[in-house]
Amino acid sequence: MIRVCLLASGSKGNCIFVSSEKTSLLIDASLSGRAATTRMAAAGISSRRLAGILVSHEHTDHTRGLGVLSRMYNLPVYVNAGTRDALPGRLGKFCGTEIFTTGTAMTIGDLTVHPFSQSHDAADPVGFVFEHDGVKVGLATDLGVATRLVTQRLQGCAVLILESNHDPKMLDQGPYPWDLKQRVKGRQGHLSNQDMGELLTNVHHPGLQHLILAHLSEINNTPQLARTTAMEYISALPSSPQLHVAAQDQPTPVISAQAA
Ligand SMILES: [Zn+2]
Ligand SMILES: [Zn+2]
Repeated sequence: MIRVCLLASGSKGNCIFVSSEKTSLLIDASLSGRAATTRMAAAGISSRRLAGILVSHEHTDHTRGLGVLSRMYNLPVYVNAGTRDALPGRLGKFCGTEIFTTGTAMTIGDLTVHPFSQSHDAADPVGFVFEHDGVKVGLATDLGVATRLVTQRLQGCAVLILESNHDPKMLDQGPYPWDLKQRVKGRQGHLSNQDMGELLTNVHHPGLQHLILAHLSEINNTPQLARTTAMEYISALPSSPQLHVAAQDQPTPVISAQAA
């Protein structure tokens, strides 16, 4: 069994909990020590089996709390060399750094982690697939386009955490300056609600149990709009995953998946 909880998700901060029975990981660390403790308690999850913090890329909405959480829970930071070199200053010391190679699987406790390359305006941004006991969880946020590689890596997952960042109309008509709109829309920006739907359609299979919409923009999207758009794509599929929408300021329920 794998359990997943998005402690925070959105353009303002991201921190995800993934766990087997024996090994737990955090992916990205935007939260303060206090917020991480509060939200894990609220979700009913324990920090006891935490084995490390994985970093997807260096943007501050993913790394702000990296030093704090590494020291507080005594956790090594797993990062690729490009991201390590690009990390913002002032994060403080880590309790160990483990360098991984994008595209090469690693084992942490009884979880296998596959980091794969994503198209985003960062040094060496990655998504992850987590595997335990034949169950896979795929995580892809902060990508401008779902490349063939991403689509390949996300095949066969029981749980998918996919970026549903913006509604194109809200982005176009919204308050962002022109250059920021171009960045968000671009090949190294973020997936729209519709981009998420296309990706879902391309990776759907009968064993997909849960779809979690993640990294929603608070300015250029609403949870309701993201959900409605996702439902349109889900209704065209031969079988429906359970749909969840992650939030910026509160954790999702703990979502678990077992081998079929
Ligand atoms: Zn982000
Ligand atoms: Zn980013």
